[in-house]
Amino acid sequence: MCSSGKIGYLGTMEIYNHPTFHMACQQFDLVADYLQIPDRDRDRLKYPKRSMTVALPVRRDDGSVQVFSGYRVQHHLTLGPTKGGLRYHPDVTLGEVAALAMWMSWKCALTGLPYGGAKGGITCDPRTMSTGELERLTRRFTQEMIPFIGPQIDVMAPDLGTNEQVMAWMMDTYSMHMGYSVPGIVTGKPVSLHGSLGRRESTGRGAAYLVNRAMDVLGLKAGSSTAVVQGFGNVGSVAAFSLAKYGVRIIAVSDVSGGVYNEKGINLWELQKHIARSGSVAGFPEGDPITNEQLLVLPCDILLPAALERQITEKNAGQIQCRILAEAANGPTTPEADEILNQREEIFIIPDILCNAGGVIVSYFEWVQDLQSFFWTETEVMDKLFRILEHAFTETLQMSKRNGVPMRMAALSLGIKRVHQAKKLRGLFP
Ligand code: NAD
Repeated sequence: MCSSGKIGYLGTMEIYNHPTFHMACQQFDLVADYLQIPDRDRDRLKYPKRSMTVALPVRRDDGSVQVFSGYRVQHHLTLGPTKGGLRYHPDVTLGEVAALAMWMSWKCALTGLPYGGAKGGITCDPRTMSTGELERLTRRFTQEMIPFIGPQIDVMAPDLGTNEQVMAWMMDTYSMHMGYSVPGIVTGKPVSLHGSLGRRESTGRGAAYLVNRAMDVLGLKAGSSTAVVQGFGNVGSVAAFSLAKYGVRIIAVSDVSGGVYNEKGINLWELQKHIARSGSVAGFPEGDPITNEQLLVLPCDILLPAALERQITEKNAGQIQCRILAEAANGPTTPEADEILNQREEIFIIPDILCNAGGVIVSYFEWVQDLQSFFWTETEVMDKLFRILEHAFTETLQMSKRNGVPMRMAALSLGIKRVHQAKKLRGLFP
């Protein structure tokens, strides 16, 4: 239905009208055509099973009460509980959350996790809120969600603008409601509350591991390669440090406030000290200032977007100058940009549902550990993580080569095919 790519053409699913949702639908439609999925099965696979919108009245520190909008979308329930992050950002809408939930479904299926996809979000600017306000907002959202979540129903995790502390408040709110401690209600918790070792680092380390595999495929040596990282939050900073550990020179990084460029390589430890002092990347003295737009088109071997969706568009796709595009963020490349990049065979894309899958894989490990109350060492976690990523990377690469399709088409096809098969086997109820 939204294969036309036109906003406002979703029929009964108009509530999701948002450019990112249209983008996820466009990707789905291309894959459905490629896999020749019958028309009668398409809408059932594509549209979210459940969506919740809640009004969240929260007392601000000045005594006023502000009502925030909160969302949770559970995309499909066919393969197990739903799983996905919770985002705090001023631009969060139901449509954006639905797109992110859909991608989570394909990601979990690609990596063989027993989950459907979900995503949540609250339209707020966490940078302008005090710790107390964020806690009250998080607890109120969790309370509103209680009828719809549970360790066997829907499990949340951190995403843009949320962190371990937010997960700890959610776990406490849910546990207070149940009357006993329920660590399996969220993942990405602090380790001292039965979070998993390695979870915080998992998305960035996973992305760096896959970049390393892509470098093998292309014959690039880490020691003579350069990387540019957009977004220096949880994912971007860990990915940058991990790549630097492999020997890659990080020549530019950015956050929402702007970026810094140094051809000789950025000292990440010094940058981290600067961020701790000033709160942002901008103004780091050991390099030249650079905008986010300029950063994306810098000549480099590895470009790793780790911030928001729709950063690489038809406007800049032709100017990107990397060998590996490692999509650590969700949905950083639009379908129009994809068409351009697919003509540029020199660029190897590690698509988002593969590149950032490390996060949900270790979230799965955390959930398993919580359900069993039996905890693993960090080495066990990382070994298991890299094994799953290796398998997913190899399968995707083989399919891409064998069938002559782009890596994104291969990864999405593997994920969507598995969900389709599961739905066919379970049949249509009643
Ligand atoms: P985060 O909040 O820790 O960091 C986000 C970073 O992006 C910050 O440095 C922020 O300043 C920057 N940023 C925000 N808006 C920007 C803009 N307009 N231009 C440039 N930079 C901007 O979030 P995160 O958890 O690191 O998530 C980053 C991306 O990775 C998101 O797309 C998220 O969905 C995806 N992701 C995260 C995880 C996870 O485990 N946290 C897992 C899978 C995917």
